[in-house]
Amino acid sequence: MSIEKIGETLFNNSLEDFKEYIKKIFSNYKKQVWKGVLIARKVRKILGNRIISSYPIDLDVYLKKAKAEVIYLDIINSGYTINIPQFYKDFFSETEYLICVNRNEPKTRNRFVIAHELGHIFLKHLNPTNKFYINTAKWKYEIEANSFAGETLVPTSVLKNLIYTKKVTSIEHLSQLFEVSIYVVYYQVILANLESDVKL
Ligand SMILES: [Zn+2]
Repeated sequence: MSIEKIGETLFNNSLEDFKEYIKKIFSNYKKQVWKGVLIARKVRKILGNRIISSYPIDLDVYLKKAKAEVIYLDIINSGYTINIPQFYKDFFSETEYLICVNRNEPKTRNRFVIAHELGHIFLKHLNPTNKFYINTAKWKYEIEANSFAGETLVPTSVLKNLIYTKKVTSIEHLSQLFEVSIYVVYYQVILANLESDVKL
């Protein structure tokens, strides 16, 4: 089962059901969850002050660092990444990866998909020796990429600052500020043990 499928299913579910799902993920895939988070923090640190403490997070900075470009297509699934073969590099110059995104899905969804695909790149899930790598992926890699996406789009340090310093405590309001779905905010809230500090 792909995470994209799970994402779509969850899209209409209540936050209570989503919480059950997150708890399961956190207990069964703790190692993968934290690997994704730690790599996201590492990349964020490397990218430096340009993105720190500003929101919504500017994914273009990440795309440039990853040598990736996004194209919006009429595709059935949410998104995938392909390596650009040497032959095509003349056309895309520096670009190593093409992230293909479903142009019919909402902006918040697409931001998650792009961050998730960036996770596969930064976590080195893609094999650069393959001419084309279509990301049908292993489940563990999906968890890592999702955690990378969560921590990239809603860094826990920025989230805490908004909650404690700026007193933004509504999940809905936070999701608007970060330009993500309420599920991504909620995932990060649970990850950082902030449940008692926010309003659903
Ligand atoms: Zn994936």
